[in-house]
Amino acid sequence: MNYSENDFTEYFSEISLPVIIKSRYIKTSKNMKDQNKPRLIFWELTKRCNLNCIHCRAEAENILFENELSTEQIFSIIDDIVSYTNPILVLTGGEPLYREDIFEISGYASDKNIRLALATNGTLIDKDTAKKISESGIQRVSISIDGSSAQSHDSFRGIPGSYDKVLQAASYLYDSGVEFQFNTTITRRNVNEIEDIIKLAEKMHSKALHIFMLVPVGCGVEIAETEMLPADKYEEVLSWLYDRMKQTSMEFKATCAPPYYRIIRQKAKLEGRKINFETDGMTAITRGCLAGTGVCFISHTGDVQPCGYLPLSAGNVIKNSFKEIWEKSELFNNLRDLSKLKGKCGICEYKTYCAGCRARAYYQTGDYMEEEPYCLHVPARQKTLNIE
Ligand code: SF4
Ligand code: SF4
Repeated sequence: MNYSENDFTEYFSEISLPVIIKSRYIKTSKNMKDQNKPRLIFWELTKRCNLNCIHCRAEAENILFENELSTEQIFSIIDDIVSYTNPILVLTGGEPLYREDIFEISGYASDKNIRLALATNGTLIDKDTAKKISESGIQRVSISIDGSSAQSHDSFRGIPGSYDKVLQAASYLYDSGVEFQFNTTITRRNVNEIEDIIKLAEKMHSKALHIFMLVPVGCGVEIAETEMLPADKYEEVLSWLYDRMKQTSMEFKATCAPPYYRIIRQKAKLEGRKINFETDGMTAITRGCLAGTGVCFISHTGDVQPCGYLPLSAGNVIKNSFKEIWEKSELFNNLRDLSKLKGKCGICEYKTYCAGCRARAYYQTGDYMEEEPYCLHVPARQKTLNIE
């Protein structure tokens, strides 16, 4: 399922840069505890899925996976989380609608005043399901769409007919009054379709379009060589997105593309202005990568990860409280400490805004604190020090 650390944050307006910047000092500051609590938790309720997407993070299949959390375990974890904090919960998968208890879970969480979103492939949403979603307390649905035509989307998703079902789902949600957004992963095969996907999102009344940069995790590892854009093409696409965003009223953002937050500042500088909240909205006050800082991910077996694309566990919510994992894990505390970033990210003048994708660094080097491999920027200090 496509989702990102920044998904839904603009809608819910929860995460701000001052909070994030301060969060680097979680270990030393006494009064920062509330500010450092997670604002957004992605929860992989199941790994099961009816599709066979070429870039799937979860390597989802239509089989029952071992140790999937039961309804009772999920209720108990919700209680544990609510006793500590009140985040936005994004119910994801695999395909979360595959769980027969999905509306029991959303109802339980909603009764605890948790704000809810659902990340789905869209193919299981018929009229009845759209109605149930609208009554369930789920406030926004993200639907993955990876092509502007049936041919390109279905080849990505592995099942003919998926595209038509996604558009039908969007119509049902719209008719039921449920806000939805499209999420699109950009690869070599659809990079030339972005403009058409934007137009499609606008035509379908999508509240937002979030453009993802592929992260080589799960099935994404196998296609990384053939499908990932080279760094210079990413730079070009992200730069184009900055310009294109000015021409739409739809919420439109680059996600899991931390260098975007550097690029927009460089481009704004050339325009003689600074990025700020009044003109640029939430983009101005969030950071490129929030993994382990403002967001985290709970796997279908209860492992707590910085994000769904960084397959490292900070602990398991069956064994430990969420609070303990969030506050004490070395993994999370490392990610919050930008002074521990390595390579050019470590000396970059934009690291507070960007921080590089920790998952792509991990995939490339085995070290999640290493430099982002898909960034062209040469930090000023690197130039000064003439570091090669
Ligand atoms: S590590 Fe990468 S994939 Fe994960 S939240 Fe950060 S930018 Fe997104
Ligand atoms: S060098 Fe690292 S921190 Fe700097 S812009 Fe590139 S990815 Fe971001």
